[in-house]
Amino acid sequence: ATPMALLVGTGRGAQLGILIKGPEVLESTRRVDTILLDKTGTVTTGRMTLADVIAAEGEDADEVLRLAAAVEDASEHPIAQAIVRAAVERFGDVADVADFQNIQGRGVTGVVDSHAVVAGRPALLAEWGLHLPADLLAAFDRAEDAARTAVAVAWDGKVRGVVVVADQIKPRSAAAIAALRGLGLTPILLTGDNAKAAAQVAAEVGITEVRAGVLPEGKVAEVLALQGAARSVAMVGDGVNDAAALAQSDLGIAMGTGTDAAIEASDLTLVRGDLWGTVDAIRLARRTLGTIR
Ligand code: ADP
Ligand code: MG
Repeated sequence: ATPMALLVGTGRGAQLGILIKGPEVLESTRRVDTILLDKTGTVTTGRMTLADVIAAEGEDADEVLRLAAAVEDASEHPIAQAIVRAAVERFGDVADVADFQNIQGRGVTGVVDSHAVVAGRPALLAEWGLHLPADLLAAFDRAEDAARTAVAVAWDGKVRGVVVVADQIKPRSAAAIAALRGLGLTPILLTGDNAKAAAQVAAEVGITEVRAGVLPEGKVAEVLALQGAARSVAMVGDGVNDAAALAQSDLGIAMGTGTDAAIEASDLTLVRGDLWGTVDAIRLARRTLGTIR
């Protein structure tokens, strides 16, 4: 294509709500055959809501929510936002946190009211020798069976409760994924979330290949493995945890509603955060460059 055609293509992209980093990006957009889709905030709205708070025996559910919200207040994860919103509604405010630490794709830690608090995956808590008692383990499993995301909450050396959040699939995700298939792309759901929640979302939007429980560094490894198998890989994501995989992929696509880290690491940004933008982008690239190699 001529430089003029490429410029017209990128201009048309902007009209469609697709920000293209440079005209050369259209070539990789035309070529991709595999599309990795992050779940939370990409296929789903990522606007999670609190579904349940379960306290361990002898513990207080309000205290579980209060301390969890205090550590999560410093995180921008959708899970954190749901917990904080619920705590503000219930208590009016959120306690201060000191020594906050975000453990990418696993959880958060900090000191609240002189309690050392950890909120996150059971595997993270296990690194501190913290294990869920049987009642909480059962509650955790029930939440995941219902396709929700559960967060274990511990302080001062003991797991005290589980906070459960729920997400929703974006209205146009299923249609976009069907259209991507129609364009010859293979969609794969890639998420740090639990396998049951991932499988349910995948089934609802028509994805058959799922990689769940993947840590941020594992997302990069998935991209590399596919590239090693001669696939041309697009990755769509919104989170800080997606940034490295977005940078590694042949075509990084960020949700405009996502984090700055994801947007900076990407070649394309879908301003409206609607997965349908991927369909528009590929059609546009094919039209601009022609489908013949
Ligand atoms: P996704 O790939 O779906 O965007 P992430 O990689 O961000 O998910 O997170 C994976 C999992 O790590 C979450 O499902 C949750 O169990 C845990 N996690 C991540 N961040 C937090 C947090 N701020 N608080 C609690 N748990 C978290
Ligand atoms: Mg995400």
